[in-house]
Amino acid sequence: MALIREKDSKRLHIKSKLMGESLVSKSFLQGLEQKPQFRALPQVSVLKIGGQSITDMGAKAVLPILEEIVRNTPDHKVIISTGGGTRSRHVYAIAMELGMPTGVIAKLGQSVSEQNALMISTLLMPHGGIKVGHDDIPKLAAYFSQGCIPVIHGMPPYGYWEHLPAEGSLPPNRTDMGAFLLAEVIGARQCVYIKDVDGLYEDNPKLYPDAKYIPRIGANALKALDLDDLVVEWAVLDMLARSRSVAEIQIINGLCPGNITRALNGEHVGTIIFNDSDK
Ligand code: ADP
Ligand code: MG
Repeated sequence: MALIREKDSKRLHIKSKLMGESLVSKSFLQGLEQKPQFRALPQVSVLKIGGQSITDMGAKAVLPILEEIVRNTPDHKVIISTGGGTRSRHVYAIAMELGMPTGVIAKLGQSVSEQNALMISTLLMPHGGIKVGHDDIPKLAAYFSQGCIPVIHGMPPYGYWEHLPAEGSLPPNRTDMGAFLLAEVIGARQCVYIKDVDGLYEDNPKLYPDAKYIPRIGANALKALDLDDLVVEWAVLDMLARSRSVAEIQIINGLCPGNITRALNGEHVGTIIFNDSDK
């Protein structure tokens, strides 16, 4: 970037494309060249272990899933992101009753996903499990080179600055979103959600067992279906439609042995939701 010196004051400026711009002009932003995004860890898979769907079921669900992940670590580098679950819902209900703002509710949810990260990293300790915080992301390559299995809590760190929801006061960006944004920022190979259903249906399959299964769909197409209930947070669809790096997510049933292995091997075993935006 060129340096330019003001004639009168002799002050130095750095000439750049963004100089003097408001950074909010739509036509200016549209005209900016988009370089392919650098991917720091393109061999790493982000696995989100659901809070309500998996961790809350205790040993019978969690232990076989961790065993399957460990069995795969000679062939795959994985980082585990943890959900919140029933404890989050409990504290959200109390906080809502007390009129807490969304930012406070988001902080409460964060501490629950951290509880799950502590338990899962402890269970994985014999196999190199290590609980990492959000500021440890630049250290991930070093952890992988030591054969570690990093475990990170899923709640994105907006905290008090959590975005305001369209309805009610629940934080719209929760642990599904945290896992997706983590995958995007590290340029991960894939982002897999381990839950207790086979994937996406046209309605909640636990309430409507006849609901139609959707094996593969675009994020925009799914938004257009305007379903009442969804298997991942709505906000993930908006971000996926804007993704630069993670082209798709997959939701799999972690209670079926072998599914995690197959998903890590690149197989389609659940529902794939992909970025169907034009650019
Ligand atoms: P997690 O604990 O992983 O965040 P959740 O319990 O929040 O998981 O979300 C997964 C649950 O979403 C499933 O167990 C299912 O009952 C429910 N669900 C609601 N709507 C749908 C849908 N359209 N398709 C599939 N599952 C759905
Ligand atoms: Mg959830």
